[in-house]
Amino acid sequence: MTVPVNVLEPGLYIVATPIGNLADLSPRAADILARADVIAVEDSRVTAGLLRHIGVKRPMVPYHDHNAEGVRPGLIARMAGEAVALVSDAGTPLISDPGYKLVRDARAAGHTVVTIPGPCAAVAALTLAGLPTDRFLFLGFLPAKAKARADAIAEIAAVRATLVIYESGPRLSACLAALAEGLGDREAAVTREITKRFEEAVTGTLTSLAARYAEAPPKGEIAIVVAPPGEAAPPPIEDADAALAEALTRLPAAKAAGEVAKRFGVDRKALYARALALKDN
Ligand code: SAM
Repeated sequence: MTVPVNVLEPGLYIVATPIGNLADLSPRAADILARADVIAVEDSRVTAGLLRHIGVKRPMVPYHDHNAEGVRPGLIARMAGEAVALVSDAGTPLISDPGYKLVRDARAAGHTVVTIPGPCAAVAALTLAGLPTDRFLFLGFLPAKAKARADAIAEIAAVRATLVIYESGPRLSACLAALAEGLGDREAAVTREITKRFEEAVTGTLTSLAARYAEAPPKGEIAIVVAPPGEAAPPPIEDADAALAEALTRLPAAKAAGEVAKRFGVDRKALYARALALKDN
């Protein structure tokens, strides 16, 4: 029996959709959605709009935080003979959105799992912020309550990576202030409405951004990007003498000078001369 070319192989298809600009739907994503037997959706009204945009109608099954446990086994069973696509309202499924348990169970059941990558607000925000991108940590949404939020921030304060955080307009200023409190006043960017008409990226220190948005909480979708911690500041130079005196109790002058020069970022030869003078005294 020959399988028609336009029938998708059974399995799970993770399909990224636009985060604001419908033109960002990839041709491959549109093709998979058009050919899926069923689409698992967060909100059928949102996905119906996307399907209208590409001129197709497909059966949809709601799959969200409140019904996932009940719906998942049925979807897994269908994957044995049907192509099941998973979308979220916007962006990449599983990224601060439901889906990882569906992937886990699909894999455990031996079904094919395919991803159709595309827009993701976290990655788009990183590309706009102008902050280091070699290492980044995605934190999703921080807890809404102040104490839990402060604890979550304290937990990652020493991580040497750029941070990406999702936040809502009404909570933005308090979140920025909490980040400044827990991380120090780092450079940051507030990216908003990415790919939409009023897309913007406002940069500044966490404190200045917190003050700016305290007056007028912004509308729309927001992602915050925070710079990694800076290099630890060298200790004050006045402390070098005391450190040298202490090092001389353990080490010969040359080694003591070398150790303290490294720690304070000062000239080794000058410190060696100082060490000899201290020894003479
Ligand atoms: N799965 C999505 C993704 O791939 O980015 C994220 C889903 S999460 C429930 C929604 C949050 O993502 C929003 O509250 C906002 O913080 C961020 N977000 C989504 N679209 C955005 C946009 N166009 N500009 C800035 N942030 C956006």
